Amino acid sequence: MNFHVLTLFPDMVRDGFQTSITGRAAEKGLLSLETINIRDFSVNKHNRVDDYPYGGGAGMVMQAEPVYLAYESVAKRTGGTPRVLYMSPQGRVFDQRMAEELAREDELVFLCGHYEGIDERVLQEIVTDEVSIGDYVLTGGELPALVIMDAVSRLLEGVLHNEESAQFDSFHDNLLEYPQYSRPEEWRGRTVPPVLLSGHHANVERWRREQSLIRTRERRPDLLEHAQLTEEDKKFLAKLEEL
Ligand code: SAM
Repeated sequence: MNFHVLTLFPDMVRDGFQTSITGRAAEKGLLSLETINIRDFSVNKHNRVDDYPYGGGAGMVMQAEPVYLAYESVAKRTGGTPRVLYMSPQGRVFDQRMAEELAREDELVFLCGHYEGIDERVLQEIVTDEVSIGDYVLTGGELPALVIMDAVSRLLEGVLHNEESAQFDSFHDNLLEYPQYSRPEEWRGRTVPPVLLSGHHANVERWRREQSLIRTRERRPDLLEHAQLTEEDKKFLAKLEEL
């Protein structure tokens, strides 16, 4: 997977990405990050890339041409027409399903806006997906791009140490993950559920599944509608309803 990020703040993206698991994966050659500074494509002698909005109003707007030239420089190298994700609070809200979908691509281009956003015409010209990371407004698209790259990266083969760790994560199956415990067995008077110390694999699996069902029912009942439930799961949930 090759990530290309069109941004006014390349250091912010690189610093965030190089840390921790994504950085390690890049060192191993499992993925790559290229940042493209949109300012390098300014067509203005003062190196500006923004201007006043037509029609008036507060703030500045990123101009179409520098963004287009920055995109073109990437598209020339990647060949073809890569998927271009514009980070935008107006876009489709990012979720695990979309992370899984994006993880199947070879190249992903992220376009990070700032100020009041980007001239609509260049968005119409190059953007394939507008993606939001939630219903709130941030100052720029760099953090959303990092969030999405992180969620996508951990689904790529070899990125996580333990191949199985992503398999049972929250949302994978439209269920939240069960609670996790580590040593010591007792911490400040709180003990680990005995079944996890039993060494009985089947009982541990069943307990975890039930905990997932309980948590999802309590915290995100909307997810349960789309979860793939076994007959045993359905019986368990029906029993909970009776309580
Ligand atoms: N005026 C724009 C609007 O109301 O839709 C908001 C612009 S915002 C201040 C500046 C940039 O931050 C956007 O162009 C986008 O790239 C990014 N951004 C802000 N909130 C975001 C969110 N929730 N998801 C993804 N990107 C976001």
